[in-house]
Amino acid sequence: MSRVYNFSAGPATLPEPVLTRAASEMLDWHGSGMSVMEMSHRGAEFTSIIEQAEADLRELLAIPDNYRVLFLQGGASTQFSMVPLNLLKGKDSADYINTGSWSKKAIAEAGRYCKVNIAGSSADDNFTWIPEQSQLELDSDAAYCHITTNNTIFGTEYNYIPETGNVPLVADMSSNILSAPLDVSRFGLIYAGAQKNIGPSGVTVVIVREDLVGHAYEWTPKMLDYKTHADSGSLYNTPPGYGIYIAGLVFSHLKGQGGLQAVGEINRRKADKLYKAIDESGFYTNPVRPRDRSRMNVPFILEDPELDGKFLNEAGKAGLVGLKGHRSVGGMRASIYNAMPEDGVDALIDFMKEFEQHNG
Ligand SMILES: *Cc1c(COP(=O)(O)O)cnc(C)c1O
Repeated sequence: MSRVYNFSAGPATLPEPVLTRAASEMLDWHGSGMSVMEMSHRGAEFTSIIEQAEADLRELLAIPDNYRVLFLQGGASTQFSMVPLNLLKGKDSADYINTGSWSKKAIAEAGRYCKVNIAGSSADDNFTWIPEQSQLELDSDAAYCHITTNNTIFGTEYNYIPETGNVPLVADMSSNILSAPLDVSRFGLIYAGAQKNIGPSGVTVVIVREDLVGHAYEWTPKMLDYKTHADSGSLYNTPPGYGIYIAGLVFSHLKGQGGLQAVGEINRRKADKLYKAIDESGFYTNPVRPRDRSRMNVPFILEDPELDGKFLNEAGKAGLVGLKGHRSVGGMRASIYNAMPEDGVDALIDFMKEFEQHNG
């Protein structure tokens, strides 16, 4: 067997100990004589799996008691409509900060249900920076304010949490949840598709303050009402059980690493050394304003775009895959989520230096 270093933006690499454990439990989970995939979601075994996953996530993020944790389906993209359907509460507008492709999709979807006030945007500069607090034009009467804390495609990340007063702050954290400690109490609602930093695709984690649940429009489809899932412990219908199980193994793995303080320090170190290698080269550049650089997704552009194909080809041969950049930025993108070992980042840096020597 030979595992590669997978820098893909998502679905993304998972911690190897989690995969090994899942493999060992594949045929017979804890003496049940069956795989987690084959279990009733209403049985005692699965109940213990989902309860443990929630408890570990609560511990990792120190989630206050007045927040509900939901394991849903439909990806982060379904949250683009669930958020307005549930949080507008009769108001007719919401604030959105536009920091890239995923923000734009969230904005477009919200626009079907309400007036969207763009409270900040870096669209004019191809999303190479994050608006600062002083630049935000917030509406104190907005139903909520929506941000994308890490912009997977453009490689930017908020280095602060916007202050929105009494207006609930809603955050799409799909690509940086669990990457460092977080003050959950600053948010009304947090959501994340699992396939970047949590587990396999098919699970969406929602963390929502209790008072925001139960106010959906009465015509809201039942499956899109947070209350449906909050009242049933995320078991209203058949949940993505195997994905929840893997997410639970990831949570437990992160606890074993020392929790989010320790994980955050490793992530900082990984990102710093990669940006340093880019900045010190005369060959690679990163287009993002330094203070807004993402610790999770690191785009870099080669001096000569003609060399992109050669770079990807030789990187692949060296066991470094998933580096092709998104077409809206070009060049390369290294996604270095929690599960990317520091050794993987070191291997990438060594490869980049060698490639520059031969082609620069
Ligand atoms: C990947 C991603 C999404 C889309 O997630 P799906 O689960 O595919 O719907 C949304 N927002 C951000 C920030 C992402 O990185």
